[in-house]
Order: sequence, then C-alpha cells, then structure tokens
Amino acid sequence: MAGEPQTDCLFCKIVSGDIPATIVRESATTVAFRDINPQAPTHVLVIPKVHYPDAASLAAAEPQIAADVLTEAGAVAADEKIDSTGYRIIFNTGSGAGQTVFHAHAHVLGGRGLQWPPG
Ligand code: IMP
Repeated sequence: MAGEPQTDCLFCKIVSGDIPATIVRESATTVAFRDINPQAPTHVLVIPKVHYPDAASLAAAEPQIAADVLTEAGAVAADEKIDSTGYRIIFNTGSGAGQTVFHAHAHVLGGRGLQWPPG
C-alpha cells in the first residue's frame, strides 16, 4: 500500500533502524543521514519516513511531508554551515537520471565548488 514500509527497501530499513546510518537530524516525518559514498564534504540524504518511490509521487500523495523534506534539507545546510557558501538539493528521479534507491530522497551537497550544469 502507498506510503507503507517496503520489506525490500534499503531506506525503509534505515527508518526502522534495521540498517545503521549516521543520522544527523530527525523529525516526526523525516530522517537525515550521511551518504555512504559522499560526493562532497557535506553529502546528506533527507528522506520521508513514509515510502514513496520518488519525490514527485511523494509530493502528489503527501505534499506536507514533501515540504518537510525541503525544510529539513535547509536545516541540514544551516547545521553544516554551507548555507552561506551555497549548496545544492537534488532529487534524482528515474534510473536514467541516476536514481538507484527508489525511496524518495533529497541529496544535500555542499562544502566545495559545484559545477553547472551537472553531468
Ligand atoms: P540515488 O542514486 O539518487 O538514488 O541516491 C542514492 C544514494 O544512497 C547514493 O548516493 C548512495 O551512495 C546512497 N546510499 C546507498 N546505500 C546507503 C546506505 O546504506 N547509507 C547511506 N547512504 C547510502
């Protein structure tokens, strides 16, 4: 059922605590943790606790929780002190765009110069 935990989902297992993660923030609806393969000095993932496969399906079904993900992404940037130098919030959507985990997540990247356009 939409929004319910999926037994085969890595990020649902991080939400439940079955897989460890370096959690930097948690709210009633979200968890933020360090990416296991960081692409920048700060690379944190912000995920909703509910399971939706990508950001668009999350926003369609649970717009307030999608907003919570963005609010928490901004809070991560402030905590990491990258808000003054600039940072990037990315939602890879679909395998063609590099999405590998099909539980909605925002990448928060910063702490180095970021090129535009991304590859
Ligand atoms: P995607 O490629 O946009 O789907 O992002 C998935 C991200 O999850 C990648 O940047 C991975 O490095 C990261 N990742 C995969 N497994 C783990 C884990 O167990 N802990 C933290 N990050 C992970």
